[in-house]
Amino acid sequence: MERVALLRSLSSCSTTACRRLLSRRRDRTGFLCARMNRNKEKLQFLSCPATVRWSPRTAAVHSLRLRRDFSFAPLAVSASPQPAAQDLGERHEIAENLGFEKIAEQFISECKSTGTLYKHKKTGAEVISVSNDDENKVFGIVFRTPPKDSTGIPHILEHSVLCGSRKYPLKEPFVELLKGSLHTFLNAFTYPDRTCYPVASTNIKDFYNLVDVYLDAVFFPKCVKDFRTFQQEGWHYELNDPTEEISFKGVVFNEMKGVYSQPDNILGRASQQALFPENTYGVDSGGDPKVIPKLTFEEFKEFHQKYYHPSNARIWFYGDDDPVERLRILSEYLDQFEGSPAPNESRVEPQRLFKEPVRIVEKFPAGEDGDLEKQHMVCVNWLLSDGPLDLETELTLGFLDHLLLGTPASPLRRILLESGLGDAIVGGGMEDELLQPQFSIGLKGVAKDNIDKVEELIMNTLKSLAEDGFTSEAVEASMNTIEFSLRENNTGSFPRGLSLMLRSIGKWIYDRDPFEPLKYEKPLQSLKGRIANEGSKAVFSPIIERFILNNPHRVIVEMQPDPDKASKDEAEEREILHKVKASMTEEDLAELAWVTQELRLKQETPDPPEALRSVPSLSLQDIPKKPSHVPTNIGEVNGIKILHHDLFTNDVIYSEVVFDMSLLKKELLQLVPLFCQSLLEMGTKDMDFIQLNQLIGRKTGGISVYPFTSSMRGQVDPCTRMIVRGKAMSSKIEDLFNLMNCIIQDVQFTDFQRFKQFVSQSKARMEVLFYLDGHQIFPSIKYFFKILQSRLRGSGHGIAAARMDAKLNVAGWIAEQTGGISYLNFLKDLEKKVDQNWDEISSSLEEIRKAIFSRKGCLVNMTADGRNLDHSTKFVSKFLDSLPTSASSEPDSWRDQLPLINEAIVIPTQVNYVGKAGNIYEAGYKLSGSAYVISKYIGNTWLWDRVRVSGGAYGGFCDFDTHSGVFSYLSYRDPNLLKTLEVYDGTANFLRQLELDDDSLTKAIIGTIGDVDAYQLPDAKGYSSLLRYLLGITDEERERRREEILSTSLKDFHEFAEFVDAVKDNGVVVAVASHDDVAAANEQKSGFFDVKKVL
Ligand SMILES: [Zn+2]
Repeated sequence: MERVALLRSLSSCSTTACRRLLSRRRDRTGFLCARMNRNKEKLQFLSCPATVRWSPRTAAVHSLRLRRDFSFAPLAVSASPQPAAQDLGERHEIAENLGFEKIAEQFISECKSTGTLYKHKKTGAEVISVSNDDENKVFGIVFRTPPKDSTGIPHILEHSVLCGSRKYPLKEPFVELLKGSLHTFLNAFTYPDRTCYPVASTNIKDFYNLVDVYLDAVFFPKCVKDFRTFQQEGWHYELNDPTEEISFKGVVFNEMKGVYSQPDNILGRASQQALFPENTYGVDSGGDPKVIPKLTFEEFKEFHQKYYHPSNARIWFYGDDDPVERLRILSEYLDQFEGSPAPNESRVEPQRLFKEPVRIVEKFPAGEDGDLEKQHMVCVNWLLSDGPLDLETELTLGFLDHLLLGTPASPLRRILLESGLGDAIVGGGMEDELLQPQFSIGLKGVAKDNIDKVEELIMNTLKSLAEDGFTSEAVEASMNTIEFSLRENNTGSFPRGLSLMLRSIGKWIYDRDPFEPLKYEKPLQSLKGRIANEGSKAVFSPIIERFILNNPHRVIVEMQPDPDKASKDEAEEREILHKVKASMTEEDLAELAWVTQELRLKQETPDPPEALRSVPSLSLQDIPKKPSHVPTNIGEVNGIKILHHDLFTNDVIYSEVVFDMSLLKKELLQLVPLFCQSLLEMGTKDMDFIQLNQLIGRKTGGISVYPFTSSMRGQVDPCTRMIVRGKAMSSKIEDLFNLMNCIIQDVQFTDFQRFKQFVSQSKARMEVLFYLDGHQIFPSIKYFFKILQSRLRGSGHGIAAARMDAKLNVAGWIAEQTGGISYLNFLKDLEKKVDQNWDEISSSLEEIRKAIFSRKGCLVNMTADGRNLDHSTKFVSKFLDSLPTSASSEPDSWRDQLPLINEAIVIPTQVNYVGKAGNIYEAGYKLSGSAYVISKYIGNTWLWDRVRVSGGAYGGFCDFDTHSGVFSYLSYRDPNLLKTLEVYDGTANFLRQLELDDDSLTKAIIGTIGDVDAYQLPDAKGYSSLLRYLLGITDEERERRREEILSTSLKDFHEFAEFVDAVKDNGVVVAVASHDDVAAANEQKSGFFDVKKVL
């Protein structure tokens, strides 16, 4: 199978995947530094930032292609040069000359940007040009593409236009861009009524390259002239041999087949289609596998011609580049078209409101196992209005959504889950991304007889909330959470400009004011004022009554499990294909077999070099020579070091208080994760944990507590710290430090029942790790590598990696003790003795507090703008004064490691996870930046080809921890065991024999720079800077590494072979594998593995 096809097969674009991506984004901070220390997964468990159900939702998006995950590189982003300031008047004159008419211009204070709306005079294309100082530039082109049927035209087009174009005639320019550009975002989405093509980059040349590839792709794609692309991406009959049966194939066809077999997706689609029986939302823009084969190439071409037209386009530019250049690029494309009537034809008509509620019953495919009676699902959906709502009403509805469902304590969510009527919530709550807003809520895992009870409970809960209102604490906590997230606008490494674009497009696409959704300040203040003056009940009760309780446009969807559905659907499909074959003559069949062969040949033929060269790429001269600089001022308050990062954070203060963990006694180490959870979830003398959590929600943007451990280069002892992390608006800085103080000093370790729950929850979570089997999406080689790196602890290979690290260094040992197999064993024991030993455990927790939380070895890291940093000092000082002055004990020695023997961890599995690792510093390797380029290259070529493509594993990759010197290989969902180890051992020979042309070397270098320059928002910059400080990495060293990366040569690859051989000769092997495979391996190589059974 060729690589491009492999990439494609990895890139599913289902709604659930998309939702998963978006929900993960919210608490991503913990992931930012996975490269420095792979033990960050714990962060995810231990930190509990308020979950915010706000921000542009793309739940309606059903297609998210080759998505990029977030970056974890510790190094900050490079700045591109500011454009020359241009006289406004002059700019508009140039715009006029380029064929654009200025329609509106506004300064949007919420995002400190000037937005200009232009209309391209000849075609009517609308352009928003947003100028500010954000270096993460974003471009997006959006077409209104409402489908009339469920053949999936918009979705198939979205896939197909990225398969080569007039200027870039290769199979997938998109994949080449993924490999060799510095993009911070590159993707495409299909919505029910629009298709978006966004790109982002901080490098100006790279950015314009991406823009040009995308513009050429959407306006001049090869696919409208190439029936084979349509077949490949959409659907076709496949017949390998005239004697065999015909089957349906096609990327979108297969993708949607997957989507239509997932119960939650079926429910979502059924709900939307029943809510909108009369307009475009009543059909599926993604494509129904039963309908997709009705689509013809003619219809496909016509759809492109009609809707992928400038007259029907909305174009977005955002960032610090020259606004005139943007228009110049656009005019070159747009001027090639005349006006078209598309905008009238693509307008979305509203759905009229029902007079009566509707009830529908659908079946979904279910397995034979389990009690089918208890697998029903029910969801109640409302269409909230017959037209668009004003911004303040929308904001109020969003607020109501958060109050009802936003946190585990929110009443509708809590009451539904506590009722015992079902296992989990379904329905997305409020959805306002389409023309008309909807609200959906329900339960899955419901017994057949309880369907009506669920519906009743939903209605009664909403009724009583309308009658009684919400508590003022809940309202204040929701208000603060929403306000905080709006102001912070922390999109992780999802570009801010893209988040704003998606928000704006949600109105612009319906010909409404595109700037309005960006200006939340006025409606927010007005809503706050009304709540203050009239009380929250007066605000929310009428909204619940009007939009929900008294709204007859209600659709109740009941989903019944049907164990026969999958086979019935298959039989139906076979029947259709059978008829097709029966209708064909012998010549037809021979022809079809030939066409099938041709299509496969086309897919397997690599692009010619001249086509590959057509994709613009950067040269090394385009890469900034210096790494970006994070302003860091090291001062002292009351004898304690304080790091200040003066960065614009929109009035938010980010703070980390770092404590020394090395004073902790070794035998208490394994209690640390439970200690952290107790701090946040046990409550104090005066507040139970709900009150404490509400207070955190009301006053801050979230607080978390977690341990941080990493090897330090050149030292035996690791860096071990406890970090208390919090964020708040500058006006709440005093509250933030008071709450941090309360958490570390006042929380009582007395709630035995809750602690017992923590232990069983943690144990269950650890056990699940063994079964997590990577149903996540791996979007590309680059991100595949990154995601796996970040999830090292997320499944079998994570367990193997932790185990290897624990054998090779102390930091790894600590991580394994608090998150690996050793920790699981500890939890199992603890669960048994917690009842008898509670007093002892409680006093151990107290002892941990005393050992860690003191002024000794304390360090404070603050990220905010200068004024707020100054203002915060007195509160920081007060906080530090209140800390105990001396620690309770002397440093303990933790110099422990697991025995250096090969180990097989046997679990019930059909696939293996095979790891091998060794310390190359011990073999004499001196760190050079070239190691980043080389290890990335090994993963993308040698391991990809051997472990994955020919080995049949889902993935194979390598990692070099520059702090410890551990170079490790891992495979993922691997059918092999010893054979994979042979591939690892062959790496040195691969390197020795390697020949690289200049283009490939440059691409590898630029790809590496793309990793180390991963885009970071200010909080991430400040945090990375803290970690570098803790690990002793100076700016000079970063500069040197960068020079080494940029000057990597083939000689470096050859020389690296020697050290890779050290891993071959002295490395340690850990496999998480099936019983049979381990037995076979030990048969073949007697006594190779020490066998350990875990589950
Ligand atoms: Zn797709």
